[in-house]
Amino acid sequence: MDGNLTPNDLSHVVDADKAHIWHHLIQHKPFETKDPNVIVEGKGMRVWNQAGKEHIDGVSGGVWTVNVGYGRESIAKAVYDQLVKINFFAGSAGSVPGALFAEKLIAKMPGLSRVYYCNSGSEANEKAFKMIRQIAHKRYGGTKHKILYRDRDYHGTTISCLSAGGQDERGAQYGPYTPGFVRVPHCLEYRAADQGAPTENYGEWAADQIEQVILREGPDTVGGLCLEPVTAGGGVITPPQGYWDRVQEICRKYDILLHIDEVVCGVGRTGTWFGYQQYGVQPDLVTMAKGVASGYAAIACLVTTEEVFAMFKDNADDPLNYFRDISTFGGCTAGPAAAIENLRIIEDEDLLGNCTRMGEYMLGKLGELQDKHAVIGQVRGKGLFLGAELVSDRDTRTPAPEKMVQAVVADCMGQGVIIGATNRSVPGYNNTLCFSPALIAKKDDLDQIVDAVDGALTRVFG
Ligand code: PLP
Repeated sequence: MDGNLTPNDLSHVVDADKAHIWHHLIQHKPFETKDPNVIVEGKGMRVWNQAGKEHIDGVSGGVWTVNVGYGRESIAKAVYDQLVKINFFAGSAGSVPGALFAEKLIAKMPGLSRVYYCNSGSEANEKAFKMIRQIAHKRYGGTKHKILYRDRDYHGTTISCLSAGGQDERGAQYGPYTPGFVRVPHCLEYRAADQGAPTENYGEWAADQIEQVILREGPDTVGGLCLEPVTAGGGVITPPQGYWDRVQEICRKYDILLHIDEVVCGVGRTGTWFGYQQYGVQPDLVTMAKGVASGYAAIACLVTTEEVFAMFKDNADDPLNYFRDISTFGGCTAGPAAAIENLRIIEDEDLLGNCTRMGEYMLGKLGELQDKHAVIGQVRGKGLFLGAELVSDRDTRTPAPEKMVQAVVADCMGQGVIIGATNRSVPGYNNTLCFSPALIAKKDDLDQIVDAVDGALTRVFG
């Protein structure tokens, strides 16, 4: 714990928090009777709150972010060294860490060549939508402007991102939405029956549904398809391989830009640099944020092909021919400086290899839990990005009630183990426990997390 802060200081912090902070994504009524959790310090996989209580973090900062773990002094130093040289200049100019990180990133992303910096996953996705829309105007007289998104996927919190959001509880009460976003069905094989889908060749079936939507809307109206490689908050959904082969084929057939949202999967989470690389798919646009600098600085990127880039410089006489977009803090140097060091750590410590090995280990441990607890309907995931879907009845696959799923999360928290669960996202299906420990996780850490879940499931479900 931070020795510089006395208990009195911390009690003042809690009072100030209760008086003035509007926390993200939670209801505040409970704070009338209990204190918020203020995270004071972190090291490796562990964090300490204002009461000095230690927690092992099974979700990398709550939202799949701190991939290299807490307390990385080398990242802090890289940021410091950069900030005392130059902290910021608008992104119409270049920066040393910006150029160097882009070069390193592109080396990990064959087929892509251009990096556009901004600050958040939502913002990066907005940029991608704008590019697709502008290409529609430049190339197709504005007709090919529709953007397809998938049921249960999430792409961010702005109105256009919510318009592209497949998690209805997140969007509820924020309409009207941006026009031109069209939903395609999800690709969760475990829920095939709910969709009236065949279980054989499910991936191809799910991709064919995308083609059906394109044909219904008119291929000349559809410019982009936006997908998470592994759906995160919608239930840790890993589409089968057959899905991706067909998706790629369909995009090429109808001249539709494939936009992969790597905000969660990006930079190692699944055991490859990017989630799409698990499936051999070749995207036109990739957005990323959380793991880019593991939360040591705010940075997000949109990465695209030379072909897309070239579309924005194809007519020098046209005053509108460039991407007329800016992100003020896309010019901050702290982000790319942190990102360079983050990448170096992942490479030098073989964290991709560790992620794959530990992911398999944890999937095995969760499989053992499934044998023991009938409430676990399915465990799934890739690398250290795992989920356990809870059901009241294995035969009918009726989702376990959200309150009980949340009770498991709360029980783990009481044991000093932070896990997550899909919540307030997909109506009726907020029933998946989520695990995304830092890529540095060791077997002991994962055992501690799984043991806590074991105890919690027994206490909550019997
Ligand atoms: N895309 C995905 C897949 C996400 O999970 C999130 C956030 O959780 C976002 C986009 C939005 O990112 P941000 O919160 O940085 O705007």
